[in-house]
Amino acid sequence: MRVIVLGAGPAGASAAVALADKGVDTLLVDPRPHTGWQLGEGLPAAAGEHLRSLGVWEAFRGAGHLPCTQFVSCWGSAEPAYRSAIVDAHGPSWQVERRRFDEMLVTAARTAGADGPVPWRLTGIRRGPPRWLLRCVDDGTVRVVPADFVIDGTGRRSCFARLLGLPRRVDSSVVCAAGLLDDPDPDDGSSLVETVEDGWWYASRVPGGRLVVAKFTDAAISGRQGLRRVSEWSRQLGRTRLTRARAGWPGLRLRAPLRIAAAGSSALDSPAAAGWLAVGDAACAHDPLSSRGLHDALATGIAGADAVALSLDGAVEAAARYADTVSAGYRRYLRELAWFYAEERRFPAAQFWRSRASADG
Ligand SMILES: Cc1cc2nc3c(=O)[nH]c(=O)nc-3n(C[C@H](O)[C@H](O)[C@H](O)COP(=O)(O)OP(=O)(O)OC[C@H]3O[C@@H](n4cnc5c(N)ncnc54)[C@H](O)[C@@H]3O)c2cc1C
Repeated sequence: MRVIVLGAGPAGASAAVALADKGVDTLLVDPRPHTGWQLGEGLPAAAGEHLRSLGVWEAFRGAGHLPCTQFVSCWGSAEPAYRSAIVDAHGPSWQVERRRFDEMLVTAARTAGADGPVPWRLTGIRRGPPRWLLRCVDDGTVRVVPADFVIDGTGRRSCFARLLGLPRRVDSSVVCAAGLLDDPDPDDGSSLVETVEDGWWYASRVPGGRLVVAKFTDAAISGRQGLRRVSEWSRQLGRTRLTRARAGWPGLRLRAPLRIAAAGSSALDSPAAAGWLAVGDAACAHDPLSSRGLHDALATGIAGADAVALSLDGAVEAAARYADTVSAGYRRYLRELAWFYAEERRFPAAQFWRSRASADG
């Protein structure tokens, strides 16, 4: 029985580790591995449990990711709130160097016995039956590859589900414009969030003496404002209260072009059915405010692998149970996010977001 895992990001790679650990014949497919968001992401300390279960905790600890010692938030209130990592029973969260993080998981998958990642691009699907036949293109060569089960770990695009014609709900159109700067104070281990009237700013150090500074807002607002222009981005940064000081504005030293990325909430209506399931962002993508994208990528990768192994053993209800759990978690997340955004009443992007979320109950 062969399982094909599409996508070697954190979700697909952790699914591959967990499957290969169970002795399942696993092939990872990714035309462009290690190209995820490279500007530094926060990994909550609770993710340590998943890293341990994947057997990569020691490798993670030795890879130079930076602890986040404090959260500073100016969120819907006049005065900043400070929360030290010391109050988290799991310990500090981490600022992750993303390429090293993804490579660590892919290496673990190979060590566990998975094949790949092979650089194939999925272009078509046919259901055998009983097997899937995946049409993939590799450097101009077309191949048709059989699979008994498919895991879609292709990120927000959920390529496999999209080729099946399955609907994906979009709950917000948040985008971010992020800059990578020389960090004026690399010893400052805090992560900072600050609302402004049309969105929020984020700043945190990342490995290599750099600081990521990003503005999050609605896509339409970002387009109208021309936020992708450095001059406009920098002008808006200069009007913040805390973020400008952390970034050393106006003496910014940008080390890469500004990056614009989709960062809203979206999910497949159903992340699993007979013979396939989706993990990570392919199943549900989260607003980065929640800091749970990487955590959930690991968690759904591991849970998805369990469901696949049970399905291959004949437990036909395992994929449906997985889908129910993931979808219920996403609905809970939407309610929590709506509550969080409701704290900041001056935020037009959140107004837009809330109307959609509350319409869905
Ligand atoms: C601006 C921004 C800030 C963020 N900040 C945080 C944060 O602070 N904390 C946090 O936890 N999360 C954060 N996230 C979310 C986090 O990046 C994602 O949740 C995480 O990358 C999801 O992992 P994944 O493996 O599901 O998908 P991805 O990392 O997107 O990986 C998908 C993989 O699939 C591959 N692929 C694509 N198409 C195909 C195909 N057709 N066939 C095969 N392979 C394919 C891609 O090459 C890629 O390697 C942030 C996201 C953004 C955009």
